[in-house]
Amino acid sequence: MVMLQRCILKKCLQQFYLGNQETTKSLLSAGFTPARLGGHRAAGHRSKSSVPDVRERTLIAVKPDGVQRRLVGQIIQRFEQRGFKLVGLKMLQASDDLLSQHYCELRTKPFYPRLLHYMTSGPVVAMVWEGHKVVQTSRTMVGHTNPVEAQAGTIRGDFSFHVSRNVVHASDSPEGAQREIQLWFQRKELLNWDCCDQTMTCEV
Ligand code: UDP
Ligand code: MG
Repeated sequence: MVMLQRCILKKCLQQFYLGNQETTKSLLSAGFTPARLGGHRAAGHRSKSSVPDVRERTLIAVKPDGVQRRLVGQIIQRFEQRGFKLVGLKMLQASDDLLSQHYCELRTKPFYPRLLHYMTSGPVVAMVWEGHKVVQTSRTMVGHTNPVEAQAGTIRGDFSFHVSRNVVHASDSPEGAQREIQLWFQRKELLNWDCCDQTMTCEV
């Protein structure tokens, strides 16, 4: 099995560098993530004339205050109108266990117990969005962690005023996004599908 995976990966990378994306596409639809296929790394080495990596993914979550305030639709709309593709979506009551893994880097912070209480106070809407530089772009769209510092026009800048109720989560790096997506979603819950307007949102 490991040998077979290696073989597929090698073949895929060869095809990828040759500019033939058909093999990559078929592997992606078989459930291989872009990072597992070396997509992120390959993106950094491409020549100017080659296509951008439109398959980067990030985790966006509408936090309990956003759900309670009926902001889910407006938040989804912002990502749709920016041109990103929704590939996973679910509403859930997040468990302490999931959140302690999700926020593992913050365990020692004084606000951590209050953060856990807030995040378990009601349902969360978790989403995976896909597109070129979606991690960086969505952080800009979401705005500063502390809404006091968040620019008007960002989600936090428009809908919140306190760091303890900042409405939405967005992964902060491609590596973090991959870790968080695996934590919140099973592979079968993520869909690979082709946007019919793809050539209108970027050069593919
Ligand atoms: N947070 C808080 N008080 C703080 C800093 C952070 O309640 O002083 C919460 C807030 O909900 C924030 C989350 O902890 O979104 C995670 O913090 P992080 O530094 O990762 O910010 P983010 O990546 O969400 O902008
Ligand atoms: Mg963070």
